Amino acid sequence: MHYILMDLEWNQPLSHRSAQFRRYGNQLMFDIIQIGAVKLNEQMQMVGSFNQYIQPGLYRKLHPRITRITGIVQEDLRGAPAFKEALDRFVAWCGDEFALITWGCDDISVFQQNLDFYLKEDRAMPPAYDLQRLFGMRTAGNNKNRPGLQNAMKHFHIQPSGEHPFHSAVDDAYYTAKVFQHMENPVDVLQLPQTVRELTPAKSSANETSDDLRFTNLKQAVKSRPALEPNCPVCSKRLAVPEGYVPLDKNMWRALADCPDHGLVLIDLVLEVTRDGKRKVKRKASLSDQQNPAYVKTKHLQWANKFAQLTQ
Ligand SMILES: [Zn+2]
Repeated sequence: MHYILMDLEWNQPLSHRSAQFRRYGNQLMFDIIQIGAVKLNEQMQMVGSFNQYIQPGLYRKLHPRITRITGIVQEDLRGAPAFKEALDRFVAWCGDEFALITWGCDDISVFQQNLDFYLKEDRAMPPAYDLQRLFGMRTAGNNKNRPGLQNAMKHFHIQPSGEHPFHSAVDDAYYTAKVFQHMENPVDVLQLPQTVRELTPAKSSANETSDDLRFTNLKQAVKSRPALEPNCPVCSKRLAVPEGYVPLDKNMWRALADCPDHGLVLIDLVLEVTRDGKRKVKRKASLSDQQNPAYVKTKHLQWANKFAQLTQ
């Protein structure tokens, strides 16, 4: 049996108003872009490491914040495999008998959400254990304490080395393994199984609304009154959609509206299909981040063009 210390890095959407996030954000909040792991044998010796970049399938452009934190740049991901292939490589590397250990409890929830989103079949995470919790319980004597990995390193006098910069998945996995090696009775971690949390997007802001329409297809929904006379998400005033709806992809149509008091509003009709195959159309209204008159004018011209092409 092996102990596998794992760390992930993930990308986030550039904006919560982006078409991808509005369409898929409740199914996938983060795209995993790196899996790093270190393998220990039962004698606690390092016997291997794994480092895999992953091409993000949904949030393709790296958020500057992620680059700042992880040092990963877009170039690093060029030519990297998609999630499914990276997962196959990781599973093969893990082998048959192992215990998965992470520092903290976020990684496995993000991992599970990527599994659900990118794989056709149901696949559950293998049991995973939280070393941060064990360390916190031992040093602070309670469950709530969530010390950082660097604190734990300090505690054990583990010196960071230039070879292993922080916040790259494989290096954080390496330091987690170091901490694991230094702990007394580290296998006690196996008494601290993690449970996957459901990730849900942060509550929408006051400038956004979302409601269900009584339609199961977009063709009907775009012609309906709630679509053609949407409400301003701020003041609820009924608005017009001068150009009408244009498809952004096969499950999402967008129209522009203007509130006299609040400015440009994006109206999205999104077809959602639940896991059991039920279909429903959601109407989402959000105030545009950009409101300068030139931008708004250009946007309307663009929509008029798209609509004209559509009806040709
Ligand atoms: Zn308004």
